[in-house]
Amino acid sequence: MFRRLSATEPMGRDVTVEAIAARLGRAAVCPSRQERERTVPLWSPVRYREGTTRASRNVEEVHWLVLDYDDGTPAAVARERWSGWVHIGHTSYSHMQGRPPTKRCPDGRPPAPALRVVLPLREPVPADVWSEVMRGILGGLGRDADSKCIDPARMFYVPVIASEGAPFEHWVHTPAGGLDGPWLCLADEAAAARQAIIDRDREREERREEARRRSRERDQVATRTDRDREVRRRLLEDPAARLALGEAMGGNVVERTGGRMVIGVLCPHCSRPDVFWFGDVGGGGLRRARCNHRNSCGWEGHLWQLAADHGITL
Ligand SMILES: [Zn+2]
Repeated sequence: MFRRLSATEPMGRDVTVEAIAARLGRAAVCPSRQERERTVPLWSPVRYREGTTRASRNVEEVHWLVLDYDDGTPAAVARERWSGWVHIGHTSYSHMQGRPPTKRCPDGRPPAPALRVVLPLREPVPADVWSEVMRGILGGLGRDADSKCIDPARMFYVPVIASEGAPFEHWVHTPAGGLDGPWLCLADEAAAARQAIIDRDREREERREEARRRSRERDQVATRTDRDREVRRRLLEDPAARLALGEAMGGNVVERTGGRMVIGVLCPHCSRPDVFWFGDVGGGGLRRARCNHRNSCGWEGHLWQLAADHGITL
């Protein structure tokens, strides 16, 4: 129980179905919603962790299913839908009250039934799967019920009516003639909800792992690109690397007036062993390799292209 709407301290009560059935049959009079907020106690069919305050994360188990029908579903229809199980029904505050016109709803609301159906459960449902279980119920047998509040910490006003003469209906449905059964069993739904949560978590983890794998691949490609860039930079600027590549391709390093150079490398275009390039390219000299047969061949290219033509992987 909670003393009023703003209360956060649960007051623990051990309850029997019989006591709930009787309590939900008594409606207090409360002329306004404001006064209801201030004075009417609320109940929550759950077990809270010892010493905690109102919050879904503090709820351990949900022991009853509570459904609100605010859309005009007649009592007979709701009762028929849950007729296989022990349940308690009562009309709620807005039952046949209608609403005066407002800015948002200019036609107001005509008087219509408003109900609450309350079912004891054969086994409590762990709070961490409750919302998932509720989604299933609201998509199935509970389809016309209010779907807004599916959190386990939801609480409910004890029955109230707006005035002394306001209509109030209450029923206790006992399909086998007593309150001790059959009670609605949500054990399968709870197990299915648990599995759905596990599956969802696993799928999420798989998606994360996939994203991590892609990110690693991108890093490797980036590293590869960095490495290529470094190789090319050295083949453009580092005389030792330029000369070493020439020797690796079967050329000769010779000393000339302009400095050391590579000669005698096979030309990828004319196949004559007459490609040459310089080691030191400081001062804006030719960085590229060139076939010596300027007129009959004319090949010219970067050292890494030449290396690739020679089947050398850099
Ligand atoms: Zn050539």
